[in-house]
Amino acid sequence: MSTSYLPAGLPAPQPFPDGLDRPFWDGLRREELVIQRCQDCQRFQWLPEWLCHRCHSTRLEFAPVAPHGRVYSWYRAWNHPHPALAGVSAYLVVLVALAEAPGVRLIGNLLGDPMRDPTIGTAVVGAFEHQSEHSLLQWRIHDGPSRKDGPHDED
Ligand SMILES: [Zn+2]
Repeated sequence: MSTSYLPAGLPAPQPFPDGLDRPFWDGLRREELVIQRCQDCQRFQWLPEWLCHRCHSTRLEFAPVAPHGRVYSWYRAWNHPHPALAGVSAYLVVLVALAEAPGVRLIGNLLGDPMRDPTIGTAVVGAFEHQSEHSLLQWRIHDGPSRKDGPHDED
């Protein structure tokens, strides 16, 4: 298992008790990002629901998408009420608009120097962080050659 961005002992995101988002968590374990998509109107949606937000279809599936996106927003956390963060000066939280799932934005940490100021629109790539119970999707600045992004966030 790899090291985690934040110290151990923090409450981590958990799967829904009803199992609705289980494919997402199972995908992260395999280092694959899967997002719920409507089989009728083809729209992606997040968080997972029992109905399509757009056409109300119940024919929903989880489809693989590349773990690539752009910084939609970000936040630097300074003040940490949780004791597990006592030795942490700051960390970055980013909201990432996925390149291949228009309208879907995922939240995670931005790995690397927490004192840098990310630019809105910066290309990022997913980094799978395996913890004991679950795996998380974190993000790092995409510094490779530019890639074709597909559609951008619609709203
Ligand atoms: Zn639909």
